[in-house]
Amino acid sequence: MTLLFACVFVLLHASAIFFLPAYAMQVSYAFLLAAPLIAAAAALRQGLRGGWRAGRGWLLMALGMVSWALGMAASLRQDLFLDNANAAPGDSTLLFVLYGVPIVLAISAPYVEGESPLVRSIDAMLALALGYLFYVHVFSVVTLHGAGSREQAEYMARMLDAENLFVLLASAIRFSASDRRHEFQFYRAVVTFAGLYTVTTAYYNHFVALGDHPDFGSLRDPLVDVPFLAFALTAWRERARTPRRPSPALVRMVRSGSPLLMALALLALAIVVLQERFYAGVTGIVVAVLGYGARNTLTQVQHIKNEEGLRRQSDELATMAHTDSLTGLPNRRALDEALERAWYRPGVIRDRITLLMIDIDYFKQLNDTYGHPAGDACLKKIAEALRQVLGRPGDMLGRYGGEEFAVVMTGAPLQAGLVVAERLRQTVEALAIENSGSPHGVVTISVGVSSSMAGLRPLDLLVAQADSALYQAKRNGRNRMAAIDD
Ligand code: GH3
Ligand code: MG
Ligand code: MG
Repeated sequence: MTLLFACVFVLLHASAIFFLPAYAMQVSYAFLLAAPLIAAAAALRQGLRGGWRAGRGWLLMALGMVSWALGMAASLRQDLFLDNANAAPGDSTLLFVLYGVPIVLAISAPYVEGESPLVRSIDAMLALALGYLFYVHVFSVVTLHGAGSREQAEYMARMLDAENLFVLLASAIRFSASDRRHEFQFYRAVVTFAGLYTVTTAYYNHFVALGDHPDFGSLRDPLVDVPFLAFALTAWRERARTPRRPSPALVRMVRSGSPLLMALALLALAIVVLQERFYAGVTGIVVAVLGYGARNTLTQVQHIKNEEGLRRQSDELATMAHTDSLTGLPNRRALDEALERAWYRPGVIRDRITLLMIDIDYFKQLNDTYGHPAGDACLKKIAEALRQVLGRPGDMLGRYGGEEFAVVMTGAPLQAGLVVAERLRQTVEALAIENSGSPHGVVTISVGVSSSMAGLRPLDLLVAQADSALYQAKRNGRNRMAAIDD
């Protein structure tokens, strides 16, 4: 589908009318059936490519084009086979009007991630109600044979104008707020079509069909090809860019407000219908209001669900960020944060903080002798054993790094720290995990203990003292503890 093809199409249409004046009407019907079908084919191609998500709008566009082509086919039947030259036979007029229903549906109900089938059903119901009211309204003005007077035909033309203007306005709003590639391409095609179609249809209906040339077959017919070919062209083109960035606030507002377009269209038509068919009009109003309300509620529910999912995810991420993956213990970040919280806690009564630094003895030898996986298993076993010993709510055990652990004891004096340290040391020794690289033959730990009133000195000093105590324990022969008190 190229610009050349479109130009040749229109030129062929014009020259066939010019050179075959006897068959001008048949020629125009053939071209005006072909043009919307070409547009439908272009939309179908995009729709089948995009899948249900990106393609739904295109498929609905194709449906709208087919409806228009069927309107032209009905007009052809009335004109050529039933010899009815009326400007607005009921069947073709209705089909020309109905072209807009799938298009309004496409514009007002864009695909939303995780949307429920119920929302789709409501959209379909609103579209059906819109189609039904169009049917009621068209046949309350004209009959199957056509308009009974010139006023009726003119009214129909004005109704088509109003419908076209609505589609143009709605698609222009969506186009101005398209920030995704496939959306941009879709609304560019729709707004191009709607703009050209509104103008050419208004001109043709008011000045040709209801003007100086009521019959088909004038040189102004090819004008009607143009919007369909332009749509096919923009739909076919692959160069789909989004050259401008609409403001995110506008995008959000238009995207969430677009379902209102369908409800508004239905409401407006229902109010018009109300005057001639009271119950049909009232039903239309009720369907529009309830349908829109139910749709909004369902979308809101979906948003809340999404939000809950996101919050859960963010909680999980926060937990992950504070957990050591090998042992499942709090990690260095969690220990640091807990220490800071305990250290700088505002309040009159200061807690005594006791810090235990634990380091596995001769762990490098264990890794070298039994392999890294065995080292990992040993770390897990020791972590579990240490956890078993510590039961007090104020004590927090974590993996400080490598083969080092730490315990933050809030509200515990040095003496308590020493008791815990000794119990931890005994527990690990009692595990009797073989380590031929150690003089003890089994895995042991050394513990450094420091203690201070919270907030009295820099926190770093408490950590440095626990560290020096630990190295003192190592120097003194390992598998023991040492302490530094302030
Ligand atoms: P010391 O008795 O003085 O503490 O000696 P050490 O061998 O325990 O200490 P060193 O610092 O020399 O070695 C620590 C080893 O711990 C080196 C490193 O490969 C090992 N290590 C650190 N993290 C892990 C881990 O996650 N898994 C395993 N398998 N090994 C680790
Ligand atoms: Mg170490
Ligand atoms: Mg070590």
